[in-house]
Amino acid sequence: ADVTQLLLSRIRDVPDHPEPGVMFKDITPLLADPAAFSALTDALAEIAVRTGATKIVGLEARGFILGAPVAVRAGLGFVPVRKAGKLPGATLSQVYDLEYGSAEIEVHAEDLAPGDRVLVVDDVLATGGTAEASLRLIRRAGAEVAGVAVLMELGFLDGRARLEPALDGAPLETL
Ligand code: IMP
Repeated sequence: ADVTQLLLSRIRDVPDHPEPGVMFKDITPLLADPAAFSALTDALAEIAVRTGATKIVGLEARGFILGAPVAVRAGLGFVPVRKAGKLPGATLSQVYDLEYGSAEIEVHAEDLAPGDRVLVVDDVLATGGTAEASLRLIRRAGAEVAGVAVLMELGFLDGRARLEPALDGAPLETL
């Protein structure tokens, strides 16, 4: 409960970002506070260990900032899932629907393989579309899903419901 309070106190609400009507959850105050950043890293690393993960997938871009120290602390490899067109090597890619239009994410095909158990890390679960697409990539690579771990879930968008079929019984853990 103390950790939850600490983390909550370091998340800033920014109205009308990136567009009017959106209340953006900004984690930069949390990242700038070493006690809060370390507590967050510990909490996510505990989930990685508990779910038996062997690799951490971080979702661009804040999932990189959170996922990389979790991987180091838990003694696991880190794999970036990036927006299309950024990774230099051979990739698997996945298109998914947004409210208006679509988006595409990619992973290096050689970074995930059968035998890997993957925990997906990100800051915010909103509609769940990005996380859902990442789970498809992981499964298409032949790896297993250990779960999804996020700092925050925007409950009113019901990303949890969208994600559930793709989780196939694996946990969605929200701090
Ligand atoms: P989704 O695909 O709709 O679940 O969107 C999730 C992605 O958008 C994540 O990578 C988040 O980092 C980002 N995102 C959406 N809303 C917020 C927010 O309020 N704060 C920070 N990131 C957000």
